[in-house]
Amino acid sequence: MQKQLLYAEVIVDIAVSDVDRIFDYSTVNTPNVAVGMRVLVPFGNREIEGYVIALKENSLLDSKKIKPISKLLDAMPVFSSEMLALKDYLVKTLRIKSVNALRLFIPSQMRKGRIKELTKAFISINPEYIGMPTEQFIKPPALAQLELFEYLLQNGETMQSELTQNFSASSLKNLIMRGIVLQNEHSVRRIPYKDIAKENEKHILTLEQEVALNTIQSNQGNKFLIHGVTGSGKTEVYMRVIASALEQGKTAIMLVPEIALTPQVFKNFRARFGDKVALLHSGLSAGERFDEWRRLISGEALVAVGARSAIFAPLQNIGAIIIDEEHDSSYNADSNPRYKAHEVAQFRAEFNNASLILGSATPSIESYYKTKTGEFNLIELNERVNKKPLPEIELVDMCAELFEGNNSFFSRSLKANLAECLENGNQAMLFINRRGYASYLICRSCGHVPKCASCEVSLVYHREDNALKCHFCSARYAKLDLCSECKSESIKSGHVGTERVVEELNKIFPSVRVLRMDNDTTRTKDAHANILEAFSKGEAQVLVGTQMIAKGHDFPSVTLVGILDADLSLYFADYRAIERTYSLITQVSGRAGRDEKAGKVVMQSYTPKHYVYKYAIENDYKGFFEKELNLREASKYPPFAKFIRILLSGEVEDLTVEVLKKVFDEVAIISKEYPNQFVYLSAMRSPVKRIQNKYRMQVLCRLVGDIEEISQKLFDIIEKYQNPKLNIFIEFNPNNLG
Ligand code: ADP
Ligand code: ZN
Ligand code: ZN
Repeated sequence: MQKQLLYAEVIVDIAVSDVDRIFDYSTVNTPNVAVGMRVLVPFGNREIEGYVIALKENSLLDSKKIKPISKLLDAMPVFSSEMLALKDYLVKTLRIKSVNALRLFIPSQMRKGRIKELTKAFISINPEYIGMPTEQFIKPPALAQLELFEYLLQNGETMQSELTQNFSASSLKNLIMRGIVLQNEHSVRRIPYKDIAKENEKHILTLEQEVALNTIQSNQGNKFLIHGVTGSGKTEVYMRVIASALEQGKTAIMLVPEIALTPQVFKNFRARFGDKVALLHSGLSAGERFDEWRRLISGEALVAVGARSAIFAPLQNIGAIIIDEEHDSSYNADSNPRYKAHEVAQFRAEFNNASLILGSATPSIESYYKTKTGEFNLIELNERVNKKPLPEIELVDMCAELFEGNNSFFSRSLKANLAECLENGNQAMLFINRRGYASYLICRSCGHVPKCASCEVSLVYHREDNALKCHFCSARYAKLDLCSECKSESIKSGHVGTERVVEELNKIFPSVRVLRMDNDTTRTKDAHANILEAFSKGEAQVLVGTQMIAKGHDFPSVTLVGILDADLSLYFADYRAIERTYSLITQVSGRAGRDEKAGKVVMQSYTPKHYVYKYAIENDYKGFFEKELNLREASKYPPFAKFIRILLSGEVEDLTVEVLKKVFDEVAIISKEYPNQFVYLSAMRSPVKRIQNKYRMQVLCRLVGDIEEISQKLFDIIEKYQNPKLNIFIEFNPNNLG
């Protein structure tokens, strides 16, 4: 006889530390309950949501005290046994609460009964106006209205949000007000980019792509790193791997950095895989995200494409997990829960016996090292698909420029190359990884630098808003024309940012149209896509931008790339600074000369002798890797050690110092227990000493060998000192050491 599972173990959806336990409930009223379901349970004097993580015959508690589950919230489980195992893994390795791990797996709208039927506004032409000559009701010069009207005439009823992407909201409003077009609400389960024509032809694979694909297919369940130069056709390989997973009745996940998730990527995947692909990215509304998630859990969609959090896609029987641009730091969450997509991917790949495929033109040192230790198979794509050479990189010594009398931040070579590029009707991209106008202002008389009142950082001047801004807390300050300290009028600007570059370009090439892409110009929902779209249509000849312009874009007319301040990322207090610089140079350079016309890169530096430039110019990743690896080995940095930072952030300076000392003393005791594993230990203020009025201090350690046991002890320590006035957390190989 089958045993009766009369009790359910439930995790309740409250993130308070003292309820991070498992509660027993009885299943008498809900006989169909299954592991992984969401349920409603009585808790205290109210009812709250909970998740069933196990069913059992007996409870150790007094059966009279056990309350029954009130209600099942879904007909099907939302957590598979894999996700429950993943929860345990995350709870253990990140020391987070179970409920916080489970929350990663479901869209936020799903919790607390916030699911709403999704309705959308649609726009169609009022039938009375069809067939009527448009001049009768749209008087010239209302060109925008006319274009909108004709679009609707051709495409029929269209979702309002799609229209406003391409047409001005005011023309639409005008047409609605005059009754020329009608606005209706329909309920939808929207599939983003559904209507893309299925025109995306499969390419005939190059020999290198063929070899890559065969290697992956004949080693199902293994781990691979595709090192492929920019333009080598990695995406085509990914698509074939996904297609083959689908043929075998399996599913697939592909991660792309948020910033590289351009409409082009969606269109390509939608065109190849139709409705089988679900897209998850921050540009979707909460409802759209929820709908895409539902399509995945119901099995309607079998491929998830998205940014970091898509690694939690509710797919089963996964055949392949792909991480494109795997070196990108956005794969590591830098706020709680601080998970790393690579580690979660590895967990899921092993659980499903899926192939794990990382890809990049500039793999991280840590990932590439794994191909040396045999953990990953290395696959190389050494040629661009169209056999075009990589662009030539010219390195300009900016000190020499200055010495020879050019004090502009455009070198003579960059100016000349720009002039030539524009004359020939081509496009250029200028990369400067700093937004705003000037990185700081300084008084020439007394040396005063305006700083943020709440953060220990200098303020960045933004000319567009004529304001000083703090890039850490977003506070704004009025720009003074006089020094606040000595009233001098002589104020000098610090390093140039994107705004200043655009201004200078406008001076040198007054007739050239310039677009700017940085955090300031991409705040609104579709701004990022719109800028790229405008540039790709040739509406501007030059695109100036921060690292946002470095990722994955394919603009055939770009023949020149200018890197204005290549040194910028080189001197950060971070062991990955040089690796990042190499990667940025290679990625940005890779935007040039992707099509028929040859590309050229002009790279400006004040320290041109740094070894990173030599390797980047020769496109010698392997040489760079060896050099960097030797340095890391000698000084015991990752991948030869784990870098651990315990960060304290507290409102009261004295208290924070006091706790820092205590934490440090306790870690020091542990370091004596494991003398062979601690290769470095120190305590200090963080490089950015204060952010939003919180003092920041840190304990840094570097550990070799298996750190499992030690990290559990470190978690124990910080748990002890956590208090409302002081936040303490542990970061492993953090992205940013600021
Ligand atoms: P990567 O990601 O390696 O930089 P992409 O995947 O963006 O390169 O490919 C560059 C371009 O080459 C894309 O426009 C893609 O459609 C095209 N492409 C890829 N594979 C082939 C092929 N086998 N034959 C022709 N074109 C291809
Ligand atoms: Zn002054
Ligand atoms: Zn601030």
